[in-house]
Amino acid sequence: MSKSVDLFSEAKKFIPGGVNSPARAFKAVNNNPIFIERGKGSLIYDVDANEYIDYVGSWGPMILGYNDPIVIEALQRQLMKGTSFGAPTELETTLASMVVDAIDSIDKVRMVNSGTEATMSALRLARGYTGRDKIVKMEGCYHGHGDSLLVEAGSGLTTLGIAGSPGIPDQIANETIVVPYNDLDILENVFKNYGDEIAAVILEPVTGNMGVIAPKVGYLEGLRELTDKYGSLLIFDEVMTGFRLAYGGAQEIYCVEPDLTTLGKIIGGGLPVGAYGGKAEIMDCVAPEGGVYQAGTLSGNPLAMTAGITTLRLLQRANTYDYLEQKAEILEEGFKANIKELDIDATFSRVGSMFTIFFGPGQVKDYKSAQSSNTDAFAIYFNRMLEEGIYLPPSQFEANFISLAHNDRDLDKTIVANYKALKEVK
Ligand code: PLP
Repeated sequence: MSKSVDLFSEAKKFIPGGVNSPARAFKAVNNNPIFIERGKGSLIYDVDANEYIDYVGSWGPMILGYNDPIVIEALQRQLMKGTSFGAPTELETTLASMVVDAIDSIDKVRMVNSGTEATMSALRLARGYTGRDKIVKMEGCYHGHGDSLLVEAGSGLTTLGIAGSPGIPDQIANETIVVPYNDLDILENVFKNYGDEIAAVILEPVTGNMGVIAPKVGYLEGLRELTDKYGSLLIFDEVMTGFRLAYGGAQEIYCVEPDLTTLGKIIGGGLPVGAYGGKAEIMDCVAPEGGVYQAGTLSGNPLAMTAGITTLRLLQRANTYDYLEQKAEILEEGFKANIKELDIDATFSRVGSMFTIFFGPGQVKDYKSAQSSNTDAFAIYFNRMLEEGIYLPPSQFEANFISLAHNDRDLDKTIVANYKALKEVK
């Protein structure tokens, strides 16, 4: 028996489901999760000494690849000075100013410890600022596990078939209105009925948590117009897309400015972090200047700040996003050629260095079309890729991430594995 199997059964004795986040349990792919020993560049190694080319990237943060020497060295230096003080440090201002410089719509930003905290805090701020209670979210978008946002959410909830979590009071869930992603007509009707009660519309501008889906032409602009018309705030959840699709995130690419932006993943360089930011007039409503309360013992802690600052500095190097695009194009071309040659019913969906292969449904534009995917086919594909030494997110409804560490050899090997795995699906 493998060591991963042993470790998983041991973990299940002490941790619910054996994992600290549900998607890690490999439930949807009927397999035993592999337990990771270490990572280097594009590669991870499990406790049984197997090597994998990785496209999970810790679910998004590891855009430089694992164990980047410059990030590690910066962390080592900070470690010697101290890990947490719960008092202001210059590092917090440095990272905040880098975020403000990168994203035009952000004048001020507050650091928290996770994407969940970022979206929860952004919603409270939107409610406090507008004096309204209702929020609108899109089917299949995932914004962490805050009560208001666990309604028809993507990611692990879609994977496990959980539409709404027990434990969320109806009074809270009822304040969340859910509409389809990429559909402005339905949203407009919602605004006609509840316009003056809606504090905010929140969405992933490019979705990753029901698989990768791009916004239709004019969709984000339409959201901007509708929210402006009805005095609601527009929140882009860029926890996944921020510093991933471009240095300035999805809003840079699509040229639409939200009122608030939530961030996480990459800005923590692999350490726990989240952030929410936006126009000064709104952000100044947060305590201690304003009355909207949010706090954190470890918020802005020096290790996460150091990893974030160093990661963003490395991303500022010339042509970063062109390199990522080139790598992504190579994979796209190879995968699409395989799908065509084998005549597989599958759609390759990609925006920048995020991609998903949807099995079966044809064009994917929203949650309904994503959900019509053949998850059995995905499980076969996933397990064969794993056997071939390629580590993918263990669910149809997730984004794969390409990092700067993936080299031509990795990409070639992945395309060959993809051919073999698709053949098995057929
Ligand atoms: N928002 C988006 C778009 C995410 O993808 C995630 C996590 O995957 C979150 C929020 C929640 O972030 P965290 O897992 O750090 O709480």
